[in-house]
Amino acid sequence: MSAAIIDGKAISNAIREEIRAEAEALKAKGVVPGLAVILVGDDPASKVYVGNKEKACLATGFHSVVHRLPAETPQAELLALIDRLNADPAIHGILVQLPLPKHINEKAVIDAIRPDKDVDGFHPVNTGNLMIGDESLLPCTPAGCIELLKRSGIGIAGKHAVVIGRSNIVGKPAAMLLLREHATVTICHSRTPNLEAIAKQADILVVAIGRAKAIDARHVKPGAAVIDVGINRLPDGKLAGDVDFDSAAEVAGWITPVPGGVGPMTITMLLRNTLTAAKRIHGIG
Ligand code: NDP
Repeated sequence: MSAAIIDGKAISNAIREEIRAEAEALKAKGVVPGLAVILVGDDPASKVYVGNKEKACLATGFHSVVHRLPAETPQAELLALIDRLNADPAIHGILVQLPLPKHINEKAVIDAIRPDKDVDGFHPVNTGNLMIGDESLLPCTPAGCIELLKRSGIGIAGKHAVVIGRSNIVGKPAAMLLLREHATVTICHSRTPNLEAIAKQADILVVAIGRAKAIDARHVKPGAAVIDVGINRLPDGKLAGDVDFDSAAEVAGWITPVPGGVGPMTITMLLRNTLTAAKRIHGIG
């Protein structure tokens, strides 16, 4: 293996320590960052994610509230809860765990969250501000990818970044953030011909497609930084990324493992967004 491993867990722990210290300083000013998470239904993976978010909040000294609602909760009831949280001064961040049951319109729910409390960064106001470069709450997973690059000393400006995947929650915002950091950005998707040749031009390759080990050494330019966002459950129960780690690591300069790469950064960026939201809402610089 030639690649250096980007240790997402260690980077994430260091950032959480910074957030904890800032939260403590805020407390002295009478502000405790508060996050409300809403879980509708009992999807097992979502339950684990919500539990992890709650634990991370408490460990960071945040106020944490989790609303666990039955799967059959009417949309109107969920929207009424969001309205109450929008108005609650103890809550600075609101996150509705996705996916939602089929009878609930995801877009209506995201649109109902106050943009300055939208710590997932999915509200159209925040995605629009990201696009035009204004201050906004950034989507957590893409923001985590940028932090991993920066804290590993990997320069972004002037580099060719290729993002594989164009979802609203990962691919598109990751591309916008790389552009904001002055990379030259190419976005690929399922209809991109010559994917291998394009990926191989990347100095920074971000992969978010949701297919286990689909990207390997053939797609990687020697010395490139490979950021694997994918989380896939293999038939043997183990987790795998969208990148074939062993193969790509032979060629890459840096690579994120799965688990332990991008994954831990998502909750860390959620904590950072909650802290940022609390500071902005209270007018603290
Ligand atoms: P989506 O399914 O929403 O999007 C997948 C994207 O990949 C689409 O744009 C699709 O193209 C593209 N794609 C699919 N197959 C190929 C292919 N063979 N070649 C090129 N492009 C392809 O997934 P998400 O963006 O939500 O998630 C991507 C991965 O990241 C998943 O494994 C998910 O579990 C993981 N994830 C991890 C997070 C974390 O915290 N680490 C958070 C969020 C997601 P098209 O648009 O043409 O269909």
